[in-house]
Amino acid sequence: MSRRNNFAVALLAVASTVAVVAQPAPQRTLLRAGHLLDVKTGKLLDGQTIVVVGDMIQAITPTSGVAAQAGDTVIDLSGMTVMPGLIDVHTHLTMNPDFDPYRELTSTSAKEAINGVVNARTTLMAGFTSVRNVGARGFVDVDLRDAINAGQVAGPHMLVSGPLIGITGGHCDENLLPIQYHVAGDGVADGIAEVQHRVRENIKYGADLIKICATGGVLSKGDDPQASQFTLEEMQAIVADAHRLGRKVAAHAHGAQGILWATEAGVDSIEHGSYINDEAIAEMKKRGTYLVPTLYLEDWMLEKGNLPPFYHQKMIDVSAVAKGNIKHAMQSGVKIALGTDAAVYPHGLNAHELDVYVNQLGMAPLAALQTATVNAADLMGWSAKTGSLEAGKWADIIAVDKNPLEDVRVLQDVKFVMKAGVVYKGQGIGNRE
Ligand SMILES: [Zn+2]
Repeated sequence: MSRRNNFAVALLAVASTVAVVAQPAPQRTLLRAGHLLDVKTGKLLDGQTIVVVGDMIQAITPTSGVAAQAGDTVIDLSGMTVMPGLIDVHTHLTMNPDFDPYRELTSTSAKEAINGVVNARTTLMAGFTSVRNVGARGFVDVDLRDAINAGQVAGPHMLVSGPLIGITGGHCDENLLPIQYHVAGDGVADGIAEVQHRVRENIKYGADLIKICATGGVLSKGDDPQASQFTLEEMQAIVADAHRLGRKVAAHAHGAQGILWATEAGVDSIEHGSYINDEAIAEMKKRGTYLVPTLYLEDWMLEKGNLPPFYHQKMIDVSAVAKGNIKHAMQSGVKIALGTDAAVYPHGLNAHELDVYVNQLGMAPLAALQTATVNAADLMGWSAKTGSLEAGKWADIIAVDKNPLEDVRVLQDVKFVMKAGVVYKGQGIGNRE
C-alpha cells in the first residue's frame, strides 16, 4: 500500500472515532441587554437577549423568549445600552505621540511592535473592536494583526497597510536628515514602474490595503499640505494594481487638487480632506468615495501638542480651515467613515472624534454613530462581519451607561467590551479564556 493510501486509512479511522463520540452542545453566552441600539435605524429595543456562540452572534430575541440552559454563561447588562463595537478606519497602533525629531529617528521596529501590543489593547478597551491601520514601518502592523488573530495579544480586528507609499521628499518619506545619511521612507516610489513595484511588494508582505500620500502633510518636514505629490497617472497605476489584486486604496490628501486626482484615480477613501472643495465633493459623491476626516487631533494638538516649529505652523494653517470645509462636505452628502489618526494623540481617545462631529459640526447623532459602525464596516469591506448587531456577524459588542444618541460623549467611557465572543472589559470578563 502506498504511503498516500496509508494516510487515507488513518484519516478514515480518525473520522470514524470522532463520529461515535457525543458532541457537547456548543457553549452559549446570553447577553441580557436592558436597551439594544440598532445603529441602522436608531431604534432602541428594551429587554433583548443576544445569544453568542463561539465568535458569532447566533440570535437576538426578546429576553422573555430565551431561558438560560445548563452550561450557559449569562451576562447582565440590564442597566445598560448595548450596541455594536466601534470601528476606527484611520489608526497607527504601532506609533506613539512624540514629535521630537531626534526621538522619531531613533525608533525601531522592535519598539514599534511593543507600542503596538500596548496600543491595540488600549484601543480595544476603549470600545473599538475593529480598526484599519494605515501606515507602519517594516510591516510591524502585519505581525501585530497576526498576533491578535492568533490570540497572543489582545486587540481589535485589524486591516493593515504596511508602509505608506509616497514620493521622494513627500509626506510619506523621511525628510529629517541631510543627504549624507541616505535615509528614505520604506514606501518611497517615483514613476509608474516604482509605484507598481511598491504596491506588489506591500501585498507580498501581508498588506490588506494600500495607503498612499496624494499630497503633503502636517507632521513632516519641508512639504506643503496643499501641494499634490503623486501625479494622477501614478495614482491610476496604484489603484489599478491594488484593485486587481483585491485591495482597497486609502489616500492621505489635504489639498483640493490632490483630493480630486486621488478620487478620479479611483481610491476608496480620502483621509483628512482638509481643503476639500465643491469640485472634489461632487466627484467623491459621484464615485461613492469615503471621506475620513481626522478632526479631534487638531483640538488635542493645539491644546496639548508640543510640535517643532516646522510642523507647528502647518498645524495652525490646516486647523484654521479643515473643520469648515469638512462640515460643508458632510452637509453636501459625502459618505463619512470615522477615523482618528490616533498616534498623533494618545490611543484610546478615539471616541472624541464623534463629539467633534456632533457638538462642533452639527452632525445628527445617529449619522455620527453610523460613521463608526455601518459606514466604517462598509469601507473596510466587512459589512457581512461587523458594524451592526445581527445574527451571523462577529460578536463585537459594547455597552454604555446611557443612550449615545442622547449624548455621544458617553462613548468616551465604554463599560463593557466583547470582541469575537470574548469579554475584555466589564461583567463576564474571562468567561472564555
Ligand atoms: Zn495617519
